[in-house]
Amino acid sequence: MNPIQAVRGMNDILPDEAERWLWFESEVQDWLAQYGYRNLRTPLVENTQLFRRAIGEATDIVEKEMYSWRDELNSEELTLRPEGTASCVRAAIEHSLLHDGPKRVWYAGPMYRHERPQKGRYRQFHQYGVEALGYPGPDVDAEHIVMCAALWRRLGLEGIRLELNNIGSAEERAKYRAELRKFLLKNVDRLDEDAKRRMQTNPLRTLDSKNPLVKEVVAAAPSLMEFLGEASLAHFDALKALLHSQKIEFKLNTRLVRGLDYYNLTVFEWVSDRLGAQGTVCGGGRYDGLFAQLGGKAAPATGFAMGNERLLALLDEAGSAGKPPAPHIYVVCRGEGAFAYGFGVAEALRKAGYRVVQHAGETSFKSQMSRANASGALCALIVGENEVKENKVSMKLLREEVPQMTLERDGVLLAVRNNVPLARRAG
Ligand code: ATP
Ligand code: MG
Repeated sequence: MNPIQAVRGMNDILPDEAERWLWFESEVQDWLAQYGYRNLRTPLVENTQLFRRAIGEATDIVEKEMYSWRDELNSEELTLRPEGTASCVRAAIEHSLLHDGPKRVWYAGPMYRHERPQKGRYRQFHQYGVEALGYPGPDVDAEHIVMCAALWRRLGLEGIRLELNNIGSAEERAKYRAELRKFLLKNVDRLDEDAKRRMQTNPLRTLDSKNPLVKEVVAAAPSLMEFLGEASLAHFDALKALLHSQKIEFKLNTRLVRGLDYYNLTVFEWVSDRLGAQGTVCGGGRYDGLFAQLGGKAAPATGFAMGNERLLALLDEAGSAGKPPAPHIYVVCRGEGAFAYGFGVAEALRKAGYRVVQHAGETSFKSQMSRANASGALCALIVGENEVKENKVSMKLLREEVPQMTLERDGVLLAVRNNVPLARRAG
């Protein structure tokens, strides 16, 4: 019988890799707490209508990327979430989250899109999303961008550039859309099938076509900037001034429209050149119309989401950064009663805050010592039959040229404290 394999585009994350994920997640969560964002968790499954209404019918996600099905038992149309913002806003409306003021929230977890799997593009992928609900900006728009820059710094990631645009209000875009459609019609014989279709359904999306021929056409299209009114321009100017005050550089990309219909005013993407075609690690923008569009009381909002797989790939590419912390101590134990005795020693040290790996299984001292070395631990504690009999523990500092020491069992914690710094990130 053939063994059953994972679904295409959906990946297992094995322990070596998962440790890097845990490290990444704890860095991200510390960073979110620094800015006062609080976690919000929503189900993986939502009514299909939520995404149709929020993301828009004429978008890649709704047209061809959703995992949707009909639940016959309840006669419901359901979908595995392709993104997190729609669910956040649904939950905020459903639970009147903004009744006592605006909220800063974050979410994390798997998202599902039926795309062609390739490097950096999967059918199950993971995001961290950050949303500022009820804030008109542009201060909070700037906060999001500054936050991202701080995270890249914290993770040691360099060369992620910021592309920024202002796509105005729905009315301004409607005027622009009409002009753009006229322009595209004039050039229709130079468009591909996708662009021809988009010209009718969602002409703005032709602006970020990946086809070089279409790119050439739209390079000469009228610019959305020319259609922006005073309020939109003022919002943008204030955002740019705040970014400038924090020395955040950006490239104004007037072709940046983003794939989802719900955006207005500020949109941005963070892009790396080191990931090939899938270089966008983070994207977001303002979506002031979404609350009302989903049947809630109107409220301004803005947010962004980043792709964990792409950021971790970038961390990989950057070299050693992002390794999980090594254990402080490796407990080597062999012989009658040694494991149980070592177990007690290890647990006492863990209670004191140390990361301790205890060897399990019948293995020679020699090979246990080489595992201890390979683990990255600073110190091996050795328990053999003699130590058990004499109520002692031997200690070998693995990164220093000093002879092995024999300790009274009661003195282990003190000796470890004197030799192994607790605050250490190995790797
Ligand atoms: P792309 O242009 O690469 O398709 P997108 O605009 O569809 O991205 P968003 O919906 O803005 O992506 O999602 C935010 C982030 O989530 C992206 O910048 C990317 O890092 C990540 N992401 C999106 N789709 C995938 C996917 N299929 N596999 C892995 N990561 C993804
Ligand atoms: Mg996409």
